[in-house]
Amino acid sequence: MKKVILIKYGELTTKKDNRNFFIKTLKKNILNKLSDYKFEIKDDYYRMFIYPDNEDDIDDLVLKLKYIFGIHEIVIAYMSEDESLDNIKSISLLVMNELSFNTFKVETRRSDKSYNINSMDMNNLIGGHILNNIKCKVDVHKPDVLLNIEIRREAVYIYSKGIKGLGGYPVSTLGRALLMLSGGIDSPVAGYLTIKRGVELYYLYFESRPHTSIEARNKVISLARKLEKYNSNGKLLVVNFTKIQEAIYKNLDPTYLITIMRRKMYLIAEKLAKKNNCLAIVNGESVGQVASQTLSSILCVNDVTKYPILRPLCSFDKLDIIEISKNIDTYDISILPYEDCCTVFVPKHPVINPNLKHIYEEESKFDFDSLVEEAVNNVEVVDLKEKISDLL
Ligand code: ATP
Ligand code: MG
Repeated sequence: MKKVILIKYGELTTKKDNRNFFIKTLKKNILNKLSDYKFEIKDDYYRMFIYPDNEDDIDDLVLKLKYIFGIHEIVIAYMSEDESLDNIKSISLLVMNELSFNTFKVETRRSDKSYNINSMDMNNLIGGHILNNIKCKVDVHKPDVLLNIEIRREAVYIYSKGIKGLGGYPVSTLGRALLMLSGGIDSPVAGYLTIKRGVELYYLYFESRPHTSIEARNKVISLARKLEKYNSNGKLLVVNFTKIQEAIYKNLDPTYLITIMRRKMYLIAEKLAKKNNCLAIVNGESVGQVASQTLSSILCVNDVTKYPILRPLCSFDKLDIIEISKNIDTYDISILPYEDCCTVFVPKHPVINPNLKHIYEEESKFDFDSLVEEAVNNVEVVDLKEKISDLL
């Protein structure tokens, strides 16, 4: 008898045509995230099995699986090649003795139809055995515990409750997007929700040294690393935004500083998205949250690009965003007090309803093209893999 991990697929069960592709991607992601361990992995249309070389690794493996999208449930099952009734009885009792419950139900599935006891009879035999040994009752409608017995050709698998997985789609089934990642609370949450939909992320951070500090950059690196627990092989692109910000600050209408600065961010994001095979840009904007997130501000900023901009938080309340950020463990980093480039140059009275005609007039006062090209060409790539295991 061995302990194995059984993985039930998440939402991908609804994707009939693409199912094999989703399962293959999930398997690749699991192999990638669990590469420090030795195990065998097998998949079929309905579930995946992980057979660890060392049973002591099971808890660690389960912990890592909890961060992988596309998994609906993680179950620790007992597996035995001895499919005799006596053996099934004793393993069933072992499983049930580990749990506290009043009512239960046995559910047998027999994919090996040549097995000599049918499912119904097995339910009764095992149910009777449990009733004889543990003080409890059968409830076929709403049992506290469901005992599953799966009789397959190669072995029998016996298990009860599993641990809830993250759901969603396996990362990278839907291509890659570029997340505009600031040091704030919102953008990491926006990133998390995007990864959940099966999108792989690269990260983009605009910094304005020396107006922003190395601590501010490190904060973004830590946030990206937190997101890497869910994502796979992300890269952090750091854009030096200083010259562009200073040029806006020195030459243009101060009330439009944020609007024009954000237009330049989007412009650069689009160029970098294209260069890095990203199919969309993601950010943490939430309608109405600040002056730069009114509908007219979003209209004016979005005007610089035809690229799809995903705003997963567009209708979220701040408190709900905070709750997710606490759950994904980014909140404590996000509230560290280092200033972001958006906050360093904030004008006293930023425009709430900007006007596109005025923006075009302002932007024509300075030639930004070469600065934008320079920023794109000199992007710095930060390695997120280093020390990533420290975070888990
Ligand atoms: P956040 O909490 O994510 O910083 P915010 O509420 O502070 O968001 P803004 O500062 O207006 O809002 O930024 C809106 C979005 O623009 C952010 O969620 C992020 O996606 C992006 N953004 C802002 N500043 C930067 C930056 N320095 N680098 C990369 N992206 C940024
Ligand atoms: Mg911010």
